[in-house]
Amino acid sequence: MSKLLELPSYKEQAPQVAARFKRIYKRPIKLEVKNLTKVFTTAKGDVRALNDVSFNVHRREFISVIGPSGCGKSTLIRILAGLETLTSGQLLLNGSPVSGPGADRGMVFQNYTLFPWLTVKKNVMFGPQLAGQSEKQAEGNALEWIELVGLRKFTDAYPSQLSGGMKQRVAIARALANQPEVLFMDEPFGALDAQTRASMQSYLLQIWQNVDVTILFVTHDLDEAIYLSDRILVLKTNPGEIAEFIEVSVERSRSPEQFLSPEFLATKKRLEELIHPPSNESTEKLPLVRMTPVGDDVM
Ligand code: ADP
Ligand code: MG
Repeated sequence: MSKLLELPSYKEQAPQVAARFKRIYKRPIKLEVKNLTKVFTTAKGDVRALNDVSFNVHRREFISVIGPSGCGKSTLIRILAGLETLTSGQLLLNGSPVSGPGADRGMVFQNYTLFPWLTVKKNVMFGPQLAGQSEKQAEGNALEWIELVGLRKFTDAYPSQLSGGMKQRVAIARALANQPEVLFMDEPFGALDAQTRASMQSYLLQIWQNVDVTILFVTHDLDEAIYLSDRILVLKTNPGEIAEFIEVSVERSRSPEQFLSPEFLATKKRLEELIHPPSNESTEKLPLVRMTPVGDDVM
């Protein structure tokens, strides 16, 4: 068997990384989640989707939430966004309890949720106008956000004329136009091809650097979580609980070359251990029989 790379501990931090976390923790706490529990009552009985989840998010942090399918990632951010009720626990924004949705929190979903009958500009203007901005004001703001996501040429296009990546850029502009303090994103790049996804990750980092917004980003892609985040909240399943809250030891600013750096790989290895623990199931041999005569062996 070939030798595996020797990696540093994922907890080891270069001085500049440790210094950055010190600065982050000095920032005000934006979001405080205290003993959050969610039980869904269904015909088949109760489903405990989240159990006693507590964590803090500091202003302008970029947090990813990862974990196996069904561990409660969407439930968690839907509750934080006010789209779902909690069973017990408390949620504080800037130190004050919140319940229900509010303009202080925005959301971007995986499925394109633009209004197909509105142009890019009108889609972005929609929220601010609803909140009481005049048409002129909303239009001026919309143009700035559209510029920020690099879609000026498509201002008057309809969603059907845009690629998947462009639609998600509009969705980001539309969410940010309401000037939320926290932006929740639920697998926003999950439906995109690998290349588009990679450029969307870079766009998102650039946007985040230029806007005063705190981001909670759900993904099941480990590389994506590491590349984007300050910290990664790892959930385990049944019931959804925190397995670990990991500080990403990869320096900022991030670039795709870092995907192969020792810090990146060490973090990825830790995430793999947490999310895909070794089990007999995954090594089970399938009872395959050869369906056609095969001359040469491939292994
Ligand atoms: P994830 O996003 O991590 O894949 P979800 O948050 O969607 O997980 O779901 C977590 C658990 O809660 C799952 O067991 C799921 O079946 C259950 N669940 C989610 N939404 C509902 C609902 N509206 N009613 C009943 N059970 C639900
Ligand atoms: Mg989900």
